[in-house]
Amino acid sequence: MSVESVFPRLEALLPKVQKPIQYVGGELNSTVKDWDEADVRWALMYPDAYEVGLPNQGVAILYEILNELPDTLAERTYSVWPDLEALMREHGVPQFTVDGHRPVRAFDVLGLSFSTELGYTNMLTALDLAGIPLHAAERGDDDPIVLAGGHAAFNPEPIADFLDAAVLGDGEQIAIAITEVIREWKREGSPGGRDELLMRLAESGGVYVPKFYDVEYHADGRIKRVAPNRPDVPWRVHKHTVMDLDEWPYPKKPLVPLAETVHERFSVEIFRGCTRGCRFCQAGMITRPVRERSITTIGAMVENGIKESGFNEVGLLSLSSADHSEIGEVAKGLADRYEGTNTSLSLPSTRVDAFNIDLANEFSRNGRRSGLTFAPEGGSERMRKVINKMVTEEDLIRTVTTAYSQGWRQVKLYFMCGLPTERDEDVLGIADLAKKVIQAGREATGSRDIRCTVSIGGFVPKPHTPFQWAAQADHETVDRRLKELRDVVRNDRQYGRAIGFRYHDGKPSIVEGLLSRGDRRVGAVIRAVWEDGGRFDGWSEHFSFDRWMTGAEKAGVDVDWYTTREREENEVLPWDHLDAGLDREWLWQDWQDAVNETEVEDCRWTPCYDCGVCPTMGTEIQIGPTGRKLLPLTVV
Ligand code: SF4
Repeated sequence: MSVESVFPRLEALLPKVQKPIQYVGGELNSTVKDWDEADVRWALMYPDAYEVGLPNQGVAILYEILNELPDTLAERTYSVWPDLEALMREHGVPQFTVDGHRPVRAFDVLGLSFSTELGYTNMLTALDLAGIPLHAAERGDDDPIVLAGGHAAFNPEPIADFLDAAVLGDGEQIAIAITEVIREWKREGSPGGRDELLMRLAESGGVYVPKFYDVEYHADGRIKRVAPNRPDVPWRVHKHTVMDLDEWPYPKKPLVPLAETVHERFSVEIFRGCTRGCRFCQAGMITRPVRERSITTIGAMVENGIKESGFNEVGLLSLSSADHSEIGEVAKGLADRYEGTNTSLSLPSTRVDAFNIDLANEFSRNGRRSGLTFAPEGGSERMRKVINKMVTEEDLIRTVTTAYSQGWRQVKLYFMCGLPTERDEDVLGIADLAKKVIQAGREATGSRDIRCTVSIGGFVPKPHTPFQWAAQADHETVDRRLKELRDVVRNDRQYGRAIGFRYHDGKPSIVEGLLSRGDRRVGAVIRAVWEDGGRFDGWSEHFSFDRWMTGAEKAGVDVDWYTTREREENEVLPWDHLDAGLDREWLWQDWQDAVNETEVEDCRWTPCYDCGVCPTMGTEIQIGPTGRKLLPLTVV
């Protein structure tokens, strides 16, 4: 049955809202397939504004892969700003896709990709605007399956009541598998309705369906156990891992945004996973093992992506791009190929060594030398041992000296505040480090025109990391330490003016902490906040800490219990039945090592230390060198 476009009704509202172009679709490389010719239809959502959502790689990749399947269509939808939301409510316009402007409720699946938990209230807005009941239990056979993916889906418990399903890990293969399960079920005439479809997905072992699991609690509020409530549902749901990235060279046809977006470049993921073992880093832990894309595939993807999109900037993405085993050859090959053209290359890299500067020099051949970024993350040697960020002060000073002497004038340093075991002096150590960096720059260049910007983020303990048991620092402590640090930097007559200082207050981290390590009881807080007007919580101008605290009070949820409380080893954690592959005992041991300030090496270059991922997931580390070359080159 055909579905009508809502565009005629939407168009009348667009002159009244800000940035209307973000709602019109029709971008280069976007796709609108015939509705009636598809039998499985996905609406893919990044639950934030178009400017943040469009460049999201996860959504872009699934959009292409699903649209390449016969009899399948995928369209995109983003969060609408509050001005359009109000008008849509007034005029009865539902949540729509930007491709075909079709109502989201007409699709079979609404797939949401969560990079951060702060998008949860935006999901509720989209569901409500779509006319889909907020609670999964109230949905009927005509409602789409609401499915979450992305890093936040590794603990979807706080949004379990609003979700029909969640998938962990790489989406390429599981999205196709889910499509086939739905297709089969529809071809059979949708036997057993929505419940049977969810059962089929759950039985496959690759899809988590929260309603098929019951949570029991102890009297003191801790979880007693999480158990399946149907016989054929697995006790644990495993993450998905794509082993050969060369088989999945997406995006092949990059979407070119119509409105301004946060990144306007073609991004190629050069590897997935990271085994450096930074203990605070959820992405590093849940995406193990390392799987590299080959140098030849990277070269072909860059060439094809530029041709298909017209972008003049290419970003080589991964969690630590300079760690690709052939990054030197990749950098030189691409810099040679595009030298003298208007194509610039970027490598978001934070490795603290001279090799990184060689790479930056290659990549800046065609572009500006805007600045180099390094991430020591901890202000003192002790702190860096706790978090397993193996960077010594000596490394950092040697690296920045090389950078300044090779003509770089601006260095950015990233740190975190509120890390486990942190003391005041660890944070004040950031000022000392910044001063030494400026001093090194002045000595290396003989110039006083040297800048160092220090950016500090609040630490949030995340599920599936060794810090999942840690007490989060309260926001008063974080704010006091940051204020003291700021005063020390400002009052320094010799160096203070050369140091830029950027930080956020500690309150948003507490809310992120509540949502990251929350359980199903936190869902009532999210709903209360949303009902109270909570939207776009990742945006400081929309975020309200007070609204979250009021919501928690209304829901009877003690925020401190979820955030600043340290957990015991044997406490059942809300995500224990969701398997990222990491051995729980190894994680606990790594947490003890952190407290004892003991580091572990990267298993790419040292023997396996049995984190558990490879045997559990049937995977292995895949790195070069392949010995292959980026050649043959197309003459540019
Ligand atoms: S199982 Fe061993 S080789 Fe695999 S990621 Fe863990 S430590 Fe590395």
